[in-house]
Amino acid sequence: MKANCWYGTQDVRVVDVPDPKILNKRDAIVKISSTAICGSDLHLYNGFVPTMEPGDIMGHEFMGEIVEVGPDVKNRRVGDRVVVAFPISCGRCFFCKKELYSLCENSNPNAWMAEKLFGHSPAGIFGYSHLTGGFAGGQAEYARVPFADVGTIKIDNGFTDEQVLFLSDIFPTGYMAAEQCDIKSGDTVAVWGCGPVGQFAIRSAFLLGAERVIAIDRVPERLQMARDGGADTIHYEETDVYDTLMQLTGGRGPDSCMDAVGLEAHMPGPLYYYDRLKQAMMLESDRPIALRQAIMACRNGGTVSVPGVYGGVIDKFPVGAVMNRSLTIKTGQTHVQRYFQPLLDRIRNGDIDPSFVVTHRMKLEDAPEGFDLFVHKQDDCIKVVMTP
Ligand code: NAD
Ligand code: ZN
Ligand code: ZN
Repeated sequence: MKANCWYGTQDVRVVDVPDPKILNKRDAIVKISSTAICGSDLHLYNGFVPTMEPGDIMGHEFMGEIVEVGPDVKNRRVGDRVVVAFPISCGRCFFCKKELYSLCENSNPNAWMAEKLFGHSPAGIFGYSHLTGGFAGGQAEYARVPFADVGTIKIDNGFTDEQVLFLSDIFPTGYMAAEQCDIKSGDTVAVWGCGPVGQFAIRSAFLLGAERVIAIDRVPERLQMARDGGADTIHYEETDVYDTLMQLTGGRGPDSCMDAVGLEAHMPGPLYYYDRLKQAMMLESDRPIALRQAIMACRNGGTVSVPGVYGGVIDKFPVGAVMNRSLTIKTGQTHVQRYFQPLLDRIRNGDIDPSFVVTHRMKLEDAPEGFDLFVHKQDDCIKVVMTP
């Protein structure tokens, strides 16, 4: 089959690789109909994750048709149309039973690697380096889906792929980020980053009752999409973000703040000039940093929710502001399986049509071009969907 594979910093190639096979009794093989590029893939593409190996298949946002099931997958059958969750979760362990699926303790065969870096290990993730298990990803014609009985949601035919594909990651991610804000009606919520995750965070904040959402970015098309979703916007290079937020909130600050930017914001220049994780971890930067701004701007007693991905250590974390002003910080890889059914119901009810975020459609063969567009932020490129 064809698959989009990582070969080095800013080097992905679509090559022929062996078809996946059922390895365990709860596996399924999915023939992929749509697959997307995530902002998290950029951390791999830009070489910030040192546990990638040449030939690793990328991608963790995908859906398709089940073409084979292992003997212990009782609730799915060949022919089912499914969306796949990006965390790989057994559904039975201490964490899965608490619906903390992205912390599954049975799905990362390389847990020791993650433990060295993080103290404990999160779950395995498709196409996300050997640190999270070395699982082949979904930017391919087929994928092996472990624990397919838990890691997939069955989709009926009333939806297009683009309406449901983002249940795999960015819709639940934006939604969980907003849910973590514990929004009360009348609240003002600020969102740093108007990439795909930020866009879903904005819309989810409104779904959960926010009165006003203020979105921050520098890319005009992304700011426009945020306004289309009902947000007020701040261009962070043209305006002082902190001062503007204070003006807009009577000097008190937003009730909650979300960092939908992640580690890229901590790079002092075009990130592709930088050499791997060391710099990402060690950098001391005086640039306006999304997470620091979010903490400083948030009103006393408010919540800072962090869907943005961080890999190592960042400096100048204002713990004094967090402590003295009773702030709550909530973060995590998304527990996607927890949100499958409620968010599919929201799509079915017409509360939201996630396909609004798609700006570019291409063939899987053109994946390198898709990455190039997305990483260099050709301004009108917000979400790339590929079809094998
Ligand atoms: P993206 O790179 O497309 O979006 C990031 C946006 O942030 C860009 O539009 C950029 O212009 C903007 N930005 C950069 N610096 C900024 C600053 N200082 N202030 C305000 N905006 C700034 O990525 P995405 O797909 O939207 O993903 C966003 C983050 O969410 C990434 O870190 C990604 O890894 C993470 N993510 C997390 C999960 C999870 O499970 N928690 C899942 C998916 C993605
Ligand atoms: Zn992702
Ligand atoms: Zn588990």
